[in-house]
This record gives sequence, structure tokens and C-alpha cells, in this order.
Amino acid sequence: TPTVAIVGRPNVGKSTLFNRLVGKKLALVDDRPGVTRDRREGEARLGDLEFRVVDTAGLEESTEESLLGRMRAQTEAAIGDADVILFVIDARVGILPADRPFAELVRRSGKPVILIANKAEGGAGLAGAYEAYSLGLGEPVPLSAEHGEGMADLFEALMPYFPEPGDETEDEEEEPGKPLQVAIVGRPNAGKSTLVNRMLGEERLLTGPEAGITRDSISLDWTWRGRPFKLFDTAGLRKRARVEDKLEKLSVADALRAVRFAEVVVVLLDATIPFEKQDLSIVDLVEQEGRALVIGLNKWDLVADQPGLLKELKEKAARLLPQVKGAPVVPLSGLAGSGIDNLMKAVVQVHETWNRRIPTARLNQWLAEAIETNPPPAVSGRRIKIRYMTQVKARPPHFAIFGNQLDALPKSYTRYLVNGIREAFDLPGVPIRVSLRMGK
Ligand code: GDP
Repeated sequence: TPTVAIVGRPNVGKSTLFNRLVGKKLALVDDRPGVTRDRREGEARLGDLEFRVVDTAGLEESTEESLLGRMRAQTEAAIGDADVILFVIDARVGILPADRPFAELVRRSGKPVILIANKAEGGAGLAGAYEAYSLGLGEPVPLSAEHGEGMADLFEALMPYFPEPGDETEDEEEEPGKPLQVAIVGRPNAGKSTLVNRMLGEERLLTGPEAGITRDSISLDWTWRGRPFKLFDTAGLRKRARVEDKLEKLSVADALRAVRFAEVVVVLLDATIPFEKQDLSIVDLVEQEGRALVIGLNKWDLVADQPGLLKELKEKAARLLPQVKGAPVVPLSGLAGSGIDNLMKAVVQVHETWNRRIPTARLNQWLAEAIETNPPPAVSGRRIKIRYMTQVKARPPHFAIFGNQLDALPKSYTRYLVNGIREAFDLPGVPIRVSLRMGK
């Protein structure tokens, strides 16, 4: 469940809001020593939103001189744990100098924040609510924690930051020791069987799968540098079943089966006839299925000008495959057995990238800069506002971007964001997914 922190200077009504959100349920008191000593946590419910709420109010009655210093540390800790922050001000008093250091902590965290203008019962404190704009924390939500007014508006403001029912926030985590699943896919005669047989070792090839190679119906187990892999290779399996046919077409069904099986797909090209139409459609498949990609340039032993061709093909890959920009391009020879180590290093590397999780605070710091450098355009008078982003999934990285009027956001702007994320967080060779979510 998401965690919501209530933050603000003393006496703005944080505890009252906490009690309002937690209701009759007894708040858990955290009695660990130090910074968290006075912090209260509870299970809150608002409409159908359920969350953990953390209150930083416990020190208000304290008479210690170090009150503000301790409160500051406590606030920092609460912000650190939070997914969303409720920054509370007293609407009737307006903004005081004492509000600003807390606002600054919130702003610097880069986390999503909802500005609460409290004590606004019966429409009181409108002036204070307007003043609150000057904090640069967005539009204030006026409410009265004590009288329970404005809670529906708080609900509306919080809702966009909660996962949607369809969001899988629980990924299949990487189990340690679980084999990394790799498919080797390519046009007929690209050299898939030759490569796989080389990887598995000649002696095993000669003696057949019974001796030494454990296999289930679709994949081969293999170990590289002590790490287990499962290899999927359609051509190889078919050949072992003696259905070898040199005129065979690439079967889309086979390719799809292999791609779906895999976490990382090696698209094997014949370096002497690279980037044919079929090669590109296999890459499209990898992108659509959300897998990580490595390009293998096979038959490198036949290439005369190796540095020249490598440069050329890397440029070509960047141009032809923008959807998986930066995918590793690895020259190799299955026949000669060269380049296989580099291939496997690239596989492990993109697999790590594919599993990556980027902290929300870092994403939002980046997002603020990206928007400042290049603000979203106004489209036919509609002001598009991007507020916040978070990574909702890995394998492949999937980001949700929240804001207003995002249905009008041009595709080119989404592309700008995706390219920026790829650069800033170093995510080459994996598809990047973005969903746009609108608040109400
Ligand atoms: P597949 O259809 O992708 O499984 O391709 P094969 O492994 O059957 O290879 C097709 C042809 O390319 C065979 O004649 C191989 O000997 C040849 N071949 C495969 N890999 C290499 C390589 O690295 N260098 C050279 N020179 N020939 C290769």
C-alpha cells in the first residue's frame, strides 16, 4: 500500500488531519528511539483509497529547544518513506516564514505533493489559500480536518497517485539462481544452430542431448561463468528433429514463441547480409513483446574490413531501430567460436537494464528539468500540465506520467520524454513503456 506523509510546521492541524484519516482505528505509535520516536503511523481510508499515513506532528507539544531541528529531521525521514506528501498550511493564518523550510524540504524531495489549506471550514481562509500558491507547490486544496469538510477534494487530489487496479506493482522479482532465459532468433541460415551448438560444446553435439544436456521440451539448460541460462532456439530444435529445410521461411509463429519464452532475445544477423526486412520485423516483435534486445553479427570471420563494417552497422542499428535505441551490437562467429563471451556479457547487461527500477524521487527531479527545458505545448488552447511520474513496472521499464489534459499531448512530446528517460537513466536496448494518467 502507498504511504502518505503529513508534513508542515507546528500547529497547522496535522494531527487532526491524521486522526480524521485514520478514524476510530487506534494509531500505531512508533516508539523506536531517535528521530522516529514521536512519529505516528496508521492505516487510513478515504473513499476506496487505502494507505498508510505517517504523521510528523508528535513534537508539537514538546518544549525542547531543539524542537525545530528535530522536527526537521523527522520530516525528512517521513518524506523519505512517502509516496505522496500532504503539505499542510493554516489557511486562516496564511503563509508564515516557518512554513518555508518545510516547503523547501518537500520541494527538494521531488516527490508528489498535495498542498492542503487547512482550517478552511465554511469557506474561511480563502486569502490564505491563495497566498499558498506562492510556495510553488501547486494549487491548494482547502479543507477542514476538524469539521471533515473538503475530504472529497482531498480524495480527488490523491487518487491519481494511487495505482490503478490493472497495475501490477508486484513484479515477478528476480529470484536468485533462476536461469536467465535467452532466445536466439534470426532468419534461416543466419547461423543459429551453429552458434547454439558451439555454445553447448562440440562433444555434447556429437553425443546428443541425452548425454549431459538437460532439456525440457522447449529449451536447453546451459551454464556460462557459473550462471545458469535457458536457451531457446527454434531452428536448432527443428534440425535435431530432422526437419531441416534450407529453403524454409522464417516462421513468424516460431519466432513469436521464442520471443515470448525469453527475457533477452538475441537477434542473430548474417553480417554479410545484415538488416534484411525479416530481421527488422523480428526486432519489432521483440519490442512489441517488451523483451530486451541484443544484436549478434554472425559470420564475422567472413568480413574483410571489420572495423569499417562494425562502425557502419552500429550506425545502421541506431537509425533503423529507434524503438530499442542503444541495443548492444556484438560481432561474433559461431563457426569459429569467437565473440561468444562478448555476446553473453551483453545479454547479462541488457537483462539487468530490463529489470531496473528507478526511484521516484530521481525520476521527478529529472522530469522537472525536462519540462523546464522543453515545456509541453498548448494544443488548441488547452494547457497541458505534467505533474509527476513513477515507475509502475519493470521487465521492461514502464512509467506512468500524471497530469492534466494529457490526452492532447503530442506523440512527439512523449517521444521526447522516452528518449530523455533512456539517456538520463541509461536504459539502452530495452523497450520503454509510458502510460499517461489524468487526474480529475
Ligand atoms: P540457422 O538456419 O540459423 O540455424 O543456420 P545454420 O547454423 O544452419 O548455418 C547456416 C550456414 O551458415 C551453415 O552453412 C553454417 O556452416 C554457416 N555458418 C554459421 N555460422 C557461421 C559463421 O560464424 N561463420 C561462417 N563463415 N559460416 C557460418
